[in-house]
Amino acid sequence: MEIEVIEKNRDEIKLKVKGITPGIAAIIRRVIIAEIPTMAIEWVDFYKNDSVLPDEAIAHRLGLIPLTFDKNFHTLPNKCDCEGKGCVKCQVKLYLYKKGPGYVYSGDLKSSDEKVKPLYDKIPITYLNEDEELELEAIAQLGLGKEHAKWQAGNCGYSYNDSEFIFNIETTSFYKPEELFEEAINLILEKLIELKNKV
Ligand SMILES: [Zn+2]
Repeated sequence: MEIEVIEKNRDEIKLKVKGITPGIAAIIRRVIIAEIPTMAIEWVDFYKNDSVLPDEAIAHRLGLIPLTFDKNFHTLPNKCDCEGKGCVKCQVKLYLYKKGPGYVYSGDLKSSDEKVKPLYDKIPITYLNEDEELELEAIAQLGLGKEHAKWQAGNCGYSYNDSEFIFNIETTSFYKPEELFEEAINLILEKLIELKNKV
C-alpha cells in the first residue's frame, strides 16, 4: 500500500492511496464512519432546568458535543473488565451548574476525568435569563457510529481511477483526520487477526 497526502488541514485530509482493492477501500470507509470508538454523553440527570429548552433538547445537544478521551485507557462498556457495570474506564461523570443571565456553553461542563472534556468550549447549549438555573449530571461513554450518529468519528468518501484511490476524510471527533485513516487500518488488522485465530 502506498499513501500520499495531497491536502491537509485541521479537520480534513485528502489522501492518494495505491495498492488496495475496491473492497478494501469500501471497508476503510465503513470503519471510519461506523466502527471507530469516540466519547459522547449518553445519560443526563436534570436537577434543575429553568431554561426555555426542555430536558430532552438539552440532552440531545449535550450528546453532540465532541469529547476528548484516552484511547489507551477508556474502554467500550461491552468490552470493559467491569462487564458493563460501570467503572472509571467505561463511564465518565460530568457536572454542570450555571445561573443566568447568559449562555450555557460546552465549556461549563466540569469533568471528573481530566482526560475527558469538551473538544471546544464555546458550543452553545442554552440561554438562561436573570436568576434562572441549570444543573445537571451527565455520564459519557465510548460508543460507535453504527449505534448512534453522535459517536460517529468522521466522514469518509473516495473516488477511484487509474488504479489509485483518492480518499477525503473529515473528522467530527477528537481524532485528527489522518488518525482516522490509521485507526481504521489498525481496526481492520485487529479484526483479521481475530478471524485468523478463530479459523
Ligand atoms: Zn467498566
